[in-house]
Amino acid sequence: MPTYNSHFQSKLPNVPTSIFSVMSALAAEHNALNLSQGFPDFKSDTKLIELVNKAMIQGKNQYAPMPGILNLRKIIVEKTEALYGVSYHPETEITITAGATQAIFTVIAATIKKDDEVIIFKPAYDSYEPSIQVFGGKVIPYQIYPETFKIDWSEVKKLITLKTKMVIINTPHNPSGQILSKNDMQQLAAILKDTNIVLLSDEVYEHIIFDEAQHQSACLFPELAERSFIVASFGKTFHNTGWKVGYCLAPSALMEEFRKVHQFNVFSVNHPTQVALADYLKTPNNYLELGDFYQQKRDLFLSLIKGSRFEFTPSQGTYFQLLNFKNITSEGDFYFAKRLTKEHKIASIPISVFNQDNLDTKVLRFCFAKTDETLKKAAEILCKI
Ligand code: PMP
Ligand code: GLN
Repeated sequence: MPTYNSHFQSKLPNVPTSIFSVMSALAAEHNALNLSQGFPDFKSDTKLIELVNKAMIQGKNQYAPMPGILNLRKIIVEKTEALYGVSYHPETEITITAGATQAIFTVIAATIKKDDEVIIFKPAYDSYEPSIQVFGGKVIPYQIYPETFKIDWSEVKKLITLKTKMVIINTPHNPSGQILSKNDMQQLAAILKDTNIVLLSDEVYEHIIFDEAQHQSACLFPELAERSFIVASFGKTFHNTGWKVGYCLAPSALMEEFRKVHQFNVFSVNHPTQVALADYLKTPNNYLELGDFYQQKRDLFLSLIKGSRFEFTPSQGTYFQLLNFKNITSEGDFYFAKRLTKEHKIASIPISVFNQDNLDTKVLRFCFAKTDETLKKAAEILCKI
């Protein structure tokens, strides 16, 4: 092996391998049930797979247009209008991306310069912070505490300075499973009004929302919509996280900047999958039934672990459930998550990795996007702990 002897200064000296890779690898090594990384253990709809197959056979195998195929952009825009009453222009205000991760990275690359400040809410999805830092931006964290999981917007307002360039929100929220209310969004709108701050709204779980709650998309609030990049992911919606297809919506001036980066970041996204999704999205029930589908899984999981020593507040959205283990052990959450994987054969995600200064609130995240059989096996294990 050649040895690199030069003095290389890392741009991200403190960034470890993502917790999702770490816990999934540990689950595989110990043959444990993997409820850590968020992905379904069941197949996505055969109809959708056949549509991709058909598109490949029909020869849709070369580069797609840079912003995505127009039919897909059009149907997403129609879906957005039908759900939220807001119209985006299919030519200039939407870009198909290689999943939400690329959309998030590209938004940040297109907007954040050295010393710009970005307010994020912790626990935060793990890609936000390094994406900001790699462009020299400064993360300004607001820690949300699990006792209430409520945001005090007057405190958020105090974090805003002349250097604040962006705020990132995520609803339904990974990992907490909580959602932002209309009132939260209105308070955020009031804070951002009359500023030049851009909003990055991560809405990848928009269709996974429970108990009749309504998703409060940033596009519903004019003062937010005018400054928002909204990102979404078909991986979450159609049970195929491995396809890595999502999209970004934004007013044309912001989308223009987004595309300047996107074209050199991925240029364009998997073509046959886009053709298939454009067809599949013609049936709204394919995404409108998702909330009920996952609510049944949440309810099954929670009913099965009711007698366990874990404490919980039912998730309001996403396919994640937080379980508090303070009645079981005082071990650190990362240590306990590893021990559960090795000794009890069940893998989860320790929440401290998403918190400011790795704050340990004795909480683990479990993914319930699993077959009922897997959930029953998982509950059996958890009830014995
Ligand atoms: N944002 C959040 C909150 C997520 O949970 C995820 C992954 N599940 C992503 C973004 C990334 O989505 P994708 O897999 O489409 O890149
Ligand atoms: N979003 C998924 C989760 O929260 C994981 C995605 C990834 O592995 N990068 O578990």
